[in-house]
Amino acid sequence: MVSPAKGLTIAIDGPAGSGKSTIAQIISRKLNLKCLDTGAMYRGITLAALRDKVSLDEEESLVKIARNANFRFDYKKRYKQPFRVILNGKDVTREIRSKRVTAHVSQVSAYPAVRREMVKKQREMAAEGNVVMEGRDIGSVVLPHAHKKFYLTASIEERAKRRSVDLQRDGYEISQEAIMREIARRDHYDSTRPASPLVVPSDAILIDTTGKSVEEVVNEVLRHLEEPQDNDSFEKR
Ligand code: C5P
Repeated sequence: MVSPAKGLTIAIDGPAGSGKSTIAQIISRKLNLKCLDTGAMYRGITLAALRDKVSLDEEESLVKIARNANFRFDYKKRYKQPFRVILNGKDVTREIRSKRVTAHVSQVSAYPAVRREMVKKQREMAAEGNVVMEGRDIGSVVLPHAHKKFYLTASIEERAKRRSVDLQRDGYEISQEAIMREIARRDHYDSTRPASPLVVPSDAILIDTTGKSVEEVVNEVLRHLEEPQDNDSFEKR
């Protein structure tokens, strides 16, 4: 059984390019919360498996990689992308966004035993609260007692446009059409897998970010955070 964390916990779920990471990062800075990107963790496991030439059909080997993985999320102002992902002591922020990792991450994240290892780590990282965690199954599985749950979505065209901007920042040039195909494929895979598929938690606040600026979405999220909590056993720092 998962017990509610002491400090504020915010869960943000949604499909690729819905704005989860951007919004989670801004909210974490504004409210002085830890920001945990669980997609980056699944990407990290995929990167490690590809590097070590581990077959992605071997669930047991992938579980071992997941079990031994040590993740840290650092904030380093001097980078264009200041939210850094550190896997086993190495900064993998850029590599985990590669085309190859993106193409295989949904296969790796669909294994129930891999997910179990990752959920365990994610809950440990969130145990003290004061955290905003984003992904596909945060409100539904990882942090079912989160104080606030959000589900962000947007049209596929807008999501592809945003991903293209992010990828360019990270030094990757991929056509928007290719990104749209990739997103549609991952949406389908992530929503239809038997283990913790992408779903809208029944108690989540749904925000369609299509046509909205980042600032508008951030303000909407902040407004909801000011409302009284259903589970209000926390104090903001
Ligand atoms: O959010 P991002 O696009 O980086 O996520 C990469 C992939 O990781 C997703 O397409 C999904 O397959 C997987 N994922 C997941 N559960 C999460 C977060 C990500 O299965 N909580």
